Amino acid sequence: MNNNSPVARPTARPGASPAARKIQVTPVSPSAEHLGKLCSICGTGILQSDTIVICPVCSLPYHHDCWKEIGGCGTYGCSAAPVATIKETVAEDVFTPGWTAEKKCPECGSSILANALVCKVCRSVFPTERPMTKMEWQNRVYNEKEVERIKISVIAQFIFSTIGCLFMIMLPVNLITHFTDSGVFVVRRLPPTLKVLFYAALAISLVWTILAISFMGYSVVTK
Ligand SMILES: [Zn+2]
Ligand SMILES: [Zn+2]
Ligand SMILES: [Zn+2]
Repeated sequence: MNNNSPVARPTARPGASPAARKIQVTPVSPSAEHLGKLCSICGTGILQSDTIVICPVCSLPYHHDCWKEIGGCGTYGCSAAPVATIKETVAEDVFTPGWTAEKKCPECGSSILANALVCKVCRSVFPTERPMTKMEWQNRVYNEKEVERIKISVIAQFIFSTIGCLFMIMLPVNLITHFTDSGVFVVRRLPPTLKVLFYAALAISLVWTILAISFMGYSVVTK
């Protein structure tokens, strides 16, 4: 039998909606018109050796790495910009950066373009183009990529905390995580759901410890 029914081909959707999270772009080598232009994500000029992408919406060139790092276009208000960036760059009248103004990277201290979203030196990705103080940067909520990475650790810490016999390990682990930044994750930077999970873990390991101590105290007294 001859199968000649036409294969349904997915139709390309023209013009991504503002809600679309991932805009498809093709990495290319810069052509003459792009050379020397600034990638506004990192604030560095585009070189011949760079791999760039052109925003399908606003046609501005960006380094491919920069585009990947923030997950879209770096132009304020462009519908190909990642949602978080659009949402957080509202303080424009408070802070209006010119193309030459600079800010200090809160991570490595390098001077970078005022509205850069990625540090050209240490590649830190900022949640907003507004200059952040060291404090704000250290307390910033984990971004999506980071949450993906630490989610398992938070969940594991919770599960281990529910296992009673591990309280001698889990209470110190939870306390260290809470009071210092030396744990696998920083509690104050967790998004609300994971924060709740962490505090539940802390409470559970505390309850296990109290139960264990009162049980031991009880057996000593009744001996
Ligand atoms: Zn760049
Ligand atoms: Zn754009
Ligand atoms: Zn930096």
